[in-house]
Amino acid sequence: MALKLFNTLTRSLQEFAPPAANANKVGMYCCGPTVYDYAHIGNWRTFVFADLVRRTLEFSGLEVRHVMNITDVEDKIIKRVQEQTVSLREFTGRFETAFFADMQTLNCLPPHQTPRATEHIPEIIALIEKLIARGIAYRAGDGSVYFSIEKYRGCGCTYGQLQKLNFDELRVGERVAADDYDKESFADFALWKARVPADGEVFWPSPWGEGRPGWHIECSAMSMKALGETFDLHLGGEDLKFPHHEDEIAQSEGATGKPFVRHWLHAAHLLVEGKKMSKSLGNYFTLRDLLENGFTGREVRFLLLKAHYRETFNFTLDGLHSAKASLARIDECVGKLREVGVQAAACPSDMLKHELQPAGAPPLLVADFSTALADDLNVSAAWAAVFEWVLATNKRLAENTVTAAAASAALADWEKVDAVLGVGAKAAAEIPAEIAALLEARQAARQAKDFKQSDAIRDELKAKAWVIEDTPKGPKLKRI
Ligand SMILES: [Zn+2]
Repeated sequence: MALKLFNTLTRSLQEFAPPAANANKVGMYCCGPTVYDYAHIGNWRTFVFADLVRRTLEFSGLEVRHVMNITDVEDKIIKRVQEQTVSLREFTGRFETAFFADMQTLNCLPPHQTPRATEHIPEIIALIEKLIARGIAYRAGDGSVYFSIEKYRGCGCTYGQLQKLNFDELRVGERVAADDYDKESFADFALWKARVPADGEVFWPSPWGEGRPGWHIECSAMSMKALGETFDLHLGGEDLKFPHHEDEIAQSEGATGKPFVRHWLHAAHLLVEGKKMSKSLGNYFTLRDLLENGFTGREVRFLLLKAHYRETFNFTLDGLHSAKASLARIDECVGKLREVGVQAAACPSDMLKHELQPAGAPPLLVADFSTALADDLNVSAAWAAVFEWVLATNKRLAENTVTAAAASAALADWEKVDAVLGVGAKAAAEIPAEIAALLEARQAARQAKDFKQSDAIRDELKAKAWVIEDTPKGPKLKRI
């Protein structure tokens, strides 16, 4: 089934597929963290969303190259470096490490490449030089370099591809030096910022004098270096649409004369307890705050994956408690399937016997799940498919109509789905191969009526913290 995703660039639902010449390879860029603090739960909504997109593309058989930058030089970072009198690298390194640890806690797949802005200064300078050569960027009196919106539009290029802008408000030649600004104050923006005393030791030499890059040009330089001048997919939070992403398009297309990105995806805002997150309202949470309150990364991930990415989502502590209960339902069902399924390897004769029992019609978990995701990542329908499957499977388990082979097949389906969701209980709940082999040896001993040997294996299993319960459906292994 064709995967459809909403493209911010065309404001429409579009089939997502890389060009035929690229076979099934997809280049995907997600704006990464600005490492000046711990990422908050609103940031994590975007990164968990990016992880869902990547896993969905992989689930559809595409080969994804996932690039996420690290913004390690920018206005807010420089301000804090000066306040704390530490080196830039020491300061950003701390938060970068914390970010990757949090990412792992949330079970986000690590991107294939995580370029740092400070390690791409030559590429950034080269890109600015190209824009100057094409007459789209200019050096201001203080040595800073600005992007000229007027010249860019004069070349027939469109500024305002992701966001409608009112050009009556554009005063030609007016400049904005800050990295972040609002839609109403759009103007020529800084590509290179000349060194000022407040920058301290954070500066690099350039053809225009000492200074540092603007935030937007960093992403243009790193994404094109990693994925080429035109690539498939760029995503981020909707707060980055303007000015950051608009400026990325302008800088890249201004320099290369080619379309920058084919498909743009944006995740909506997150509210916490019904309000915009703010420290003064007491509803500001980093992932670490939630872990300290006894929640797990799994529960947070589950909750962040509950809402459609284009809907504003209200994140609540009640929602986290419900997430815990929902995950327990999945764990219980998958745990029972594992118990039944493990007998398949150990007891082929029992398995045969069970195969004769009616298995009933299992719900089409994988088919329903992939249909839901193909519809612009319709997670509500995807979760509905999961929980209908849990319900139906539990019913069949309670009726004892699940054969060992059917349980193994159901587990294989769940693994496929969980390769996208990433919320499954970890392998600790599974029966290790060594233990399964011992169970198999015990069954063989019993069949050979070597009860001394079978008891010895039972004791060995017990020593390894597993007990065998002999049931009419065959032996079951349980952890002590
Ligand atoms: Zn970016």
